Amino acid sequence: MRMNLNGGLGIRKKSGSIQERSINYFVPLPQRFPGTRRCPTRDRILSWGLQTDPKCLYCNVGDESIKHCFFECNFTWEIWKIIAAKCGFSSSRQWQALLLQLQHHPPNKVLKTLLLLCWQATLYTLWTERNNRLHNVHFSSCAELVRQIKLTVKNRASSLSIDRPKFSSSLLRLWFAT
Ligand SMILES: [Zn+2]
Repeated sequence: MRMNLNGGLGIRKKSGSIQERSINYFVPLPQRFPGTRRCPTRDRILSWGLQTDPKCLYCNVGDESIKHCFFECNFTWEIWKIIAAKCGFSSSRQWQALLLQLQHHPPNKVLKTLLLLCWQATLYTLWTERNNRLHNVHFSSCAELVRQIKLTVKNRASSLSIDRPKFSSSLLRLWFAT
């Protein structure tokens, strides 16, 4: 699996195959994630002169933009709040402030990796949900999305055991301790 929304949880080898190999590739720092600027949110589509409903597909109240989706929107905020709390992370709701928080917090490498995994899994899951709502008219509940994110984080932490078994074990211990 590859997470493209804002960086990747997998890396592409020169051959084109996907392989998890290095935690440095696996969990890039937030400032390396320019990808969300390329997400075709409705504010961008409107800025291109195309016609679309401006409303957020999660709440149908605010207008869709990256800032709204992550996490000014009440629906996505409830999800991220639960996931962030599992890492003991008190998150900002504002995108730029959150990026700064992620860069500088926390100093513990295992906890920082876990937090970034959670953040990436949350962005990926929420963007997938947004596209499911738009294209498939399929709506998942907040609880279902939290369950999916938790499963993704567990699977990604477990997958590191191939190359870094001790680190993977530490991640999983921390994940299940919270
Ligand atoms: Zn919304």
